[in-house]
Amino acid sequence: MAELALFGGPKEIQIDGGDIFRWPIITADDEEAVLEVLRRGAMSGSDVTLKFEEEIMKYFGSSYALCHNTGTAAIQSAMWACGVKRGDEIICQSMTYWGSALQVFSLGATVVFGEMDPETLTLDPNDVESRITDRTKAIVVVHYSAYPTDMDPIMEIADRYKLKVIEDVSHAQGGLYKGRMLGTIGHVGAMSIMSGKSLPSGEGGFLITEDKELYERAAAFGHYQRMPTLDNSDLNSSSGMPLGGYKYRMHQLSSAVGRVQLAKYSERIESIQRAMNYFWDEMEGTPGIRAHRPKAESKSTMGGWYAAKGLYVAEELGGLSVTRFCEAVNAEGVEYRIMPGANILMHLHPVMNDVDVYGDGCPTRIAFSDRDLRQGLGSLPVTESLPEKCLSVPWFKHYRREVIDEYVSAFQKVARRYKDLL
Ligand SMILES: *Cc1c(COP(=O)(O)O)cnc(C)c1O
Repeated sequence: MAELALFGGPKEIQIDGGDIFRWPIITADDEEAVLEVLRRGAMSGSDVTLKFEEEIMKYFGSSYALCHNTGTAAIQSAMWACGVKRGDEIICQSMTYWGSALQVFSLGATVVFGEMDPETLTLDPNDVESRITDRTKAIVVVHYSAYPTDMDPIMEIADRYKLKVIEDVSHAQGGLYKGRMLGTIGHVGAMSIMSGKSLPSGEGGFLITEDKELYERAAAFGHYQRMPTLDNSDLNSSSGMPLGGYKYRMHQLSSAVGRVQLAKYSERIESIQRAMNYFWDEMEGTPGIRAHRPKAESKSTMGGWYAAKGLYVAEELGGLSVTRFCEAVNAEGVEYRIMPGANILMHLHPVMNDVDVYGDGCPTRIAFSDRDLRQGLGSLPVTESLPEKCLSVPWFKHYRREVIDEYVSAFQKVARRYKDLL
């Protein structure tokens, strides 16, 4: 086999991939939808957003949908709607985008991190129960890099302890858990649809739920215009001002794009699923790297494979670091550059440990806690090992075998010649 490109050998990747990685896909339909809103001067209205919500409910099969200006806001509203308030705790995984959990501080509440499953990169249900206290109100699960969290045991624990489950579906719109649509299994599903996500609208987010009370509370938190329409008399008697002191209405340029994107979404994620499953099928048996996807017979799927990941097994490559492995693969002419690890671990960040954001005289993380629940280095050994055990892989949007085959060859060449890198 040829020398690694890193050392001057020929590059495995020669074919121009064209738009195989381009995302979001914007067509004349998106442009026209945006221009229509602009020309009417309707950027701050709600008519397009309300139509978008109808379509979201139809797509997910949910009874309620509420659009927000960001996913972070949708998740925060979901937390408050679930009753998370001063002194309360939520449980979440540590390796995620901060918008899964950090906004809980603004409610005077805090987060306790549970361990993650190293195969799925989602919250380990076996670890959740030991984290529950009298103050726990909700579990935020993240279907991380589109892998569905194991929801059955999570819902069983939540039922037993009367906790609410918020699904953060930002990575996994359209994915299935045992045949069920992600976002509809917990009490509320909340998600980002910013432009990088697999369902991309511009900046934006929304929540979906079957529970009218949760919908109405979320609306009262950041959508004061909707308060007069709510049935809950406690909420509509406060009409005129949002209970959260936030304004979370979606920008209608985003709802206009979101409508077009959602209409084409099923077709687009089908093409992604075909491409990514082909990539992993071809990669099967490559030492040092494993697919991050559920087994075919599980009836669980990866939606749009947002920020696709692979699992890295250094022991099979003589202990080669994942960083060095990525460097060598990228040198083979990779257009979608792969990176070691994933999101930084929240539990080790200064904002989680030291910063007094609201002037309480102590770190915000523990400002209203009855104990010091900070989790220092060594507290979550499985989670802390993950940055060495996962890597991003090319996120193919189209099934083009000749292009994908070259990427597979690049990974395989590096895996076979790993000794050159040690
Ligand atoms: C993107 C993202 C969010 C936050 O969404 P924004 O729309 O950027 O506010 C929350 N959770 C996860 C897991 C995300 O990836």
